[in-house]
Amino acid sequence: MDHFEIRDGALHAEQVALAEIGCEVGTPVYVYSRATLERHARVFREALSSLPKVHIAFAVKSNPNLAVLRVLAREGYGADVVSEGEMNRALAAGMPAGDIVFSGVGKSKRELTAAVRAGIGQFNLESEEEGVELAGIAASLGLRATCALRVNPDVDAGTHAKISTGKAENKFGVPYDRAAAIYARLSALEGLEMHGLAVHIGSQISDLEPSRKAFVKMGALMRELREQGLTVSHMDLGGGLGVPYKPGESLPTPAEYGAMVAEVAGDWGVTVMFEPGRVITGNAGVLVTEVIRVKEGASAPWVVVDAAMNDLARPAMYDAWHDFSAVQPTGETMLANVVGPICESSDTFAKNREIDVVKAGDLAVFRTAGAYGATMANTYNSRALVPEVMVDGDKWAIVAERIEPATILAAEQVPDWLD
Ligand SMILES: *Cc1c(COP(=O)(O)O)cnc(C)c1O
Repeated sequence: MDHFEIRDGALHAEQVALAEIGCEVGTPVYVYSRATLERHARVFREALSSLPKVHIAFAVKSNPNLAVLRVLAREGYGADVVSEGEMNRALAAGMPAGDIVFSGVGKSKRELTAAVRAGIGQFNLESEEEGVELAGIAASLGLRATCALRVNPDVDAGTHAKISTGKAENKFGVPYDRAAAIYARLSALEGLEMHGLAVHIGSQISDLEPSRKAFVKMGALMRELREQGLTVSHMDLGGGLGVPYKPGESLPTPAEYGAMVAEVAGDWGVTVMFEPGRVITGNAGVLVTEVIRVKEGASAPWVVVDAAMNDLARPAMYDAWHDFSAVQPTGETMLANVVGPICESSDTFAKNREIDVVKAGDLAVFRTAGAYGATMANTYNSRALVPEVMVDGDKWAIVAERIEPATILAAEQVPDWLD
């Protein structure tokens, strides 16, 4: 459920007309709903309430906006970060260092050092090599780094290949069969405190069976480690729960996910950790765009909008579907292609789709754009970096300004030897 609704014939975010934001800030612009974020955070936490001890670390990569992080910090969420930049955002949003999990397959020496110094709560180690390096860094600072070992369970999440992470052929984690031996070796290192295991098999997961399979395997590995006398007090089950993008699409609910986890992990005697991203932010944001013109096409008209693949990359990257609707719908529909202005055919949002009738100058939105939207934006074709707005009841504020092409140009220079 979200708070983007038609009121008096026009699409609103909570109590604010999207047309007002579109006019004042300009388009394209992302708009987030504070109430929706908060609701999703609470629904997810509630779904896990039958587990004795839970820690939720929001996957910052899905939406790293500082105001979004602040909403989640107020909900008691920690953060799952994959770079020093994300770590600093989570800290700046007021999340305690101890509530932050540092994930990522290529943490650099500089990032590991900064994170140890900051007192990050858990490093999810992706390899034995990384563990050895981190142990050295921590020991040289006279500190110990608390760690979980990320295991690749060799389970197919059944999602898009580009966001599958739990198959043996994927780069993530250590092989399941070698995990116990690696965990034992890392546990003996002075600079590390190994306290658990981590797994994350992919994103936009629409079937709970692969996750269940992976979690059952992780439970077996946990018992094996304990039988060897090793400590396992934390089990990080990652994120990945999907959200509906198309009307009528049905996905497992947080409650169904929570029930499955409770069934598998309820008696593990650990703090169970989660790293949800999309399920918290996906439906909490829309991308508002203006129709530049409608151009005649071979079979259906081209609706050319001022948002493009640089603002919202998911359709170009993953063939993803985002619902397209008019901010002021007339009730009539038309068959059309929706495209952006970028000089690539991949800059296509919808092909031969039944959409609200729109004409040049109309505002429209791409829905479910709160996750992996603005965070993937870039300036391809020397376009502006898209701004972001947050709505809270009848208030709204710019939470990330548009970065104009002129600002980016100002950071470039021609060396004298080209003069
Ligand atoms: C991307 C990622 C997540 C979040 O995935 P969602 O599908 O957005 O929930 C969680 N953990 C790790 C390690 C990730 O890479």
